[in-house]
Amino acid sequence: MKINEHYSELGGNYLFAEMKRKTAEFQRLNPDADIIKLGIGDVTLPLTPAVIEAMHRAVDEMGSASSFRGYGPEQGYDFLIDSIIRHEYESRGIKIKRNEIFVSDGSKCDVANIQEIFSTSCTAAICDPVYPVYRDSNIMAGRKIILLPCTRENDFVPELPQKPVDIVYLCSPNNPTGKTLTRNDLTRWVNWAHEKHAIILFDSAYSAYIRDPELPGSIYEIPGAEEVAIEFKSFSKTAGFTGLRCAFTVVPEAAGTLNAMWNRRHCTKFNGVSYIIQRAAEAVYSDTGRRETTALIDYYMENAAIIRNGLRNAGFKVHGGENAPYIWWELPEGLDSMNFSTKLLESCRVVGTPGIGFGSCGEGFFRLTAFGNRAHAIEAVSRIRELKIDRIP
Ligand code: PLP
Repeated sequence: MKINEHYSELGGNYLFAEMKRKTAEFQRLNPDADIIKLGIGDVTLPLTPAVIEAMHRAVDEMGSASSFRGYGPEQGYDFLIDSIIRHEYESRGIKIKRNEIFVSDGSKCDVANIQEIFSTSCTAAICDPVYPVYRDSNIMAGRKIILLPCTRENDFVPELPQKPVDIVYLCSPNNPTGKTLTRNDLTRWVNWAHEKHAIILFDSAYSAYIRDPELPGSIYEIPGAEEVAIEFKSFSKTAGFTGLRCAFTVVPEAAGTLNAMWNRRHCTKFNGVSYIIQRAAEAVYSDTGRRETTALIDYYMENAAIIRNGLRNAGFKVHGGENAPYIWWELPEGLDSMNFSTKLLESCRVVGTPGIGFGSCGEGFFRLTAFGNRAHAIEAVSRIRELKIDRIP
């Protein structure tokens, strides 16, 4: 059998599997231990009433011959696309046309699939540490990858590549570092992309967490970005849609043939998000939906502040957790993140994600998320304050 030999170049998800195994084993040996999971990248609050009501209405429509809908447009219904344009772009002074938006069942699929419209001879640049999907999807395609270190020294902002690069993945607010790129950072990247004829793949799945009005919530706030950038946004962390599945990708016409290519790819390989889910997504932008969604995000951001400030007050260095739901905990010198995770589980019954799991530059860091509940955030901080960190071997 002739298989895609590039799959053998993928690293296994050993570390994440190992963490899961360790946690399960610890729970088995300590059945009464109240383990707090701050490693999860999934939301925990339920969907809001506006979203639920919209789905109920849509379900009823589907049960009546006069309002039943079968296959919809692959790119998404206009009612949702128009809401996206109004609330995500016009509100930021950005002009986006209907045919530039592609509704999908998640940004994970979109950021993984977008590389198909680029030649396999392209070089892709990804940050280190990184959301692993960008890396793995390019490895599967056999593309050359170069890493852009994001470290304490560069304040987790990647430097412009010194070697030739055709596509670059940027994620802001960032998973896992919690760093949000400024207007200046993005302007530098957009100018670089123009100069090098490169394309920026801008993952903005967490833009709803940006509270500082000075920080750009879309790359298209930067002049000229529409010619060199594709943007990905998701309802997952914005409105708790991780289980519903809805996102969208913007491929501007100004970026040349990419718009027509992505349209072709989308229509060939995807058959649209269900009508019910698109009505749910539309409801996120209603007046009530926006209020409710803001409250969801406020809740998680309050968790982030509790964790971030709590760790700081306990004398630790922490990054992120402002304008982002991820807290990037800088471990005291010499601690390796995998051993630390075991210690944290055994001593505090708190689970997080070792930074090394996101790339070698993640070593020495530990990711905590704000997606748990309030009581857990408070309790985790209080347990961590008791941790005798200097005694960790
Ligand atoms: N992009 C980043 C950076 C993420 O962290 C995630 C999910 O954790 C996604 C994309 C995937 O989002 P979705 O649920 O829309 O597939």
